[in-house]
Amino acid sequence: MKNPQEIPTAPMPLDAGRSEGHQTAAREALHRPLSAVDPDVAEAIDREVAREEEQLILIASENYASRAVLEAQGSVFTNKYAEGYPGRRYYGGCEFADRVESLAVERAKAIFGAEHANVQPHSGSQANMAVYYAVLKPGDRILSMDLSHGGHLTHGSPVSFSGTLYQAHFYGVDRQTGRIDFNRVEEIAKACLPKLIVTGYSAYPRTIDFAAFRAVADRVGAHLMADIAHIAGMVAVGIHPSPIPHAGFVTTTTHKTLRGPRGGMVLCRKEHAKAIDKAVFPGLQGGPLVHVIAAKAVAFKEALTPEFAKYQAQIVANAKALAEGLLSRGFTLLSGGTDNHLILMDLRDKGMTGKEAEEALERAGIAANKNTVPFEERPPSIASGIRLGTPILTTRGMREAEMELVAGYIARALERPADTELQAKVRDEVLALCRAFPAYRSGIIRDRDP
Ligand code: PLP
Repeated sequence: MKNPQEIPTAPMPLDAGRSEGHQTAAREALHRPLSAVDPDVAEAIDREVAREEEQLILIASENYASRAVLEAQGSVFTNKYAEGYPGRRYYGGCEFADRVESLAVERAKAIFGAEHANVQPHSGSQANMAVYYAVLKPGDRILSMDLSHGGHLTHGSPVSFSGTLYQAHFYGVDRQTGRIDFNRVEEIAKACLPKLIVTGYSAYPRTIDFAAFRAVADRVGAHLMADIAHIAGMVAVGIHPSPIPHAGFVTTTTHKTLRGPRGGMVLCRKEHAKAIDKAVFPGLQGGPLVHVIAAKAVAFKEALTPEFAKYQAQIVANAKALAEGLLSRGFTLLSGGTDNHLILMDLRDKGMTGKEAEEALERAGIAANKNTVPFEERPPSIASGIRLGTPILTTRGMREAEMELVAGYIARALERPADTELQAKVRDEVLALCRAFPAYRSGIIRDRDP
């Protein structure tokens, strides 16, 4: 028998074991600023703001999201579980989650003229995965662009789920023109009879002929998926032809030219809506990132404005001006130029690798990424090309005149890739240009100057 002194004589209070001080601290934690809670992360963020401010970022897949997008993404919607879809959730309290998701869906459909939109994929890769999961069985054949010719990892690369689960066949660009050769695409399609053909790329600087892909797909009885991750902004405003009339499935990221939060989306015809929704949830994901969906809704609202159409036109004008500036300085560009936001420099005739060039540019304050070029002999970690894009410089307000300066900086930084003094001099000029076109430093995000 227990010592009677150990037996509680009164019922335990609900908060037994917790002091009032603890409860207060828990509540107060809701309000403590990041700089007080975690100075290490706060400092990293401040430094990232400064980096984004003081580098010329020419990474074609990146952009700067607006304050409104960042605010929505940093909202309390991060707290909310909302498995399911608007009006049919597996959780209570989804009234406002339904509101932001419905706004995002309706705006996405309006932007692209799509019959159905699923805005839940956490990323572009998951959007692609959802389409594969909806229409393919393991072992089915897909036909897509070779990674080294501009395709994406999720288009059947052996290092991706897409190359392990499915049997991938590849087409590429023509050696002379650097453009897709549709006779060759059709030949390969007839030989491998894919269930799904994938178009849309990570490093293809030319307009994509979606109607031509539809024709090939029809001839071999294949589904067609257009992955417009890179060109979505241009498609949104009609500067690039839309795949919607031709492809049963359209996937995209929302953070590149579309200038939204990091995420993905699938657009499809009504007949495929159920299969896509089922593939995303419960097929591949659990709770959607409601805070990101809220930010997608904001970005889509921005994309429906006339300013966004002007912005996209300027992205392309800037890419063309940058391409001209590089060509006139003796650089070789894949396909001889660009129709969109990106440029692929082929450095094989310059006796320098993509890796060396990337490092030299970085020392000059210019961020760009090394990239394989078609018919590449070097591994992707070294590569022979540099991919450049103009979305961020255009977001900062730069125009053709600045692109001429940027072409000059790139040419000078690469004159002698190992000459760090030369790159330091270029860096000073790069910094002056960045300061003339402030982004977040003009007070957009944090009230503290980084
Ligand atoms: N599809 C294409 C064409 C891409 O270029 C990318 C990313 O760069 C993706 C898909 C994947 O997007 P995420 O990085 O969001 O998974």
